[in-house]
Order: sequence, then structure tokens, then C-alpha cells
Amino acid sequence: MIEPLKVKEAFKRIEKENYAFRVFLKNRADEDELDKQFLSLHKELFASYDCSKCRNCCKMYSATFEENELGPVAAFLNMPIEDFKAKYIKEDFGEYLLKMRPCSFLESDGTCKIENCKPLSCREYPYTNKPERLFSLLSIVEFSGICPVVFEMLERLKKDYGFKRRRY
Ligand code: SF4
Ligand code: SF4
Repeated sequence: MIEPLKVKEAFKRIEKENYAFRVFLKNRADEDELDKQFLSLHKELFASYDCSKCRNCCKMYSATFEENELGPVAAFLNMPIEDFKAKYIKEDFGEYLLKMRPCSFLESDGTCKIENCKPLSCREYPYTNKPERLFSLLSIVEFSGICPVVFEMLERLKKDYGFKRRRY
């Protein structure tokens, strides 16, 4: 597995290839089969990966909150919800996004300050165990520049599908 600090640079070198692989999958992959492959890779790779040694998602990806997820975090931090929103949240087309990257709640030891009430988007990232991945390949390619596990998933899938690497 690629080291967390190296994934961004490695992705830049194969970015076009990964986007080409997305088109390849869109044209050739069976939706259900692809979900099974992602699910199997997700289970296998995350079972032996220690995310606390990485936390690239907390550093490079903006978590989103549903409206009903804001109150519990504000309460946990002992803040009025309006103060919490003003300090930590920006609204973007009806979405509530964390303002700061790296995330304000990422502790120096890799733990999350709001672990017990963090939003679903944090708990489910990178969503590779969810159905309908064929329709989320754009996000998956973007995540392969952040998450070492997703980077590895795409490399394995390229081999499984006999995807020919090209120079772009
Ligand atoms: S989900 Fe991916 S990016 Fe986030 S900590 Fe785990 S390996 Fe790193
Ligand atoms: S809330 Fe926690 S899990 Fe979510 S991005 Fe911030 S530190 Fe990471």
C-alpha cells in the first residue's frame, strides 16, 4: 500500500490514467459485479489498515454535515449552534461543510475530537462499500488522490480488468 504522504504525488503522475480507467469501467463494467468487487476490496484492505496513521481524509477532504448533525456536535462542544456554525461551518448550495482543512477536530495523535458525534460523511468515507459505485466513479477517482486504500483499490481493479496502462 502506498504511504499516505506519497499518495497525492503518485496520483498526479497517473491522474489521466485513472480518469481513463473511469471511462473504461463506465463502458464495460457490470454495475452489480463492480459493487461486489469494491465491497470485497473495501473489506480486505480496511481490515488490515490503521486509519489513525493516515487521516488524509481529515486533512484533505471537507466533511459535510446534514442539518440534524450540527446540533449534537455543538452540544458536545458546549456551544450554541449558531456559534458553532459561525466558527466551523460554511454553507454551500444548501450543504454544510467544515470550513477548515485540515479539519479543526483532528487531534495530533490522529484521533477525532468529535468521534462520538462526527457526521455520517466522516464515518462512511470513502464510500467504497456502498452500492451503485458505477455512478460514483468520479468521486472514487478523486479519492484515489487522497486515500491510500482507494488508490490501491483502483490499481487492483486495473489488473483485474486487464486495463492497459498508457502514457498520456
Ligand atoms: S479512509 Fe482513507 S484517507 Fe481516510 S484515514 Fe483511512 S486510509 Fe486514510
Ligand atoms: S470530524 Fe473527525 S473524522 Fe471528520 S474530518 Fe474532522 S477529524 Fe476527521
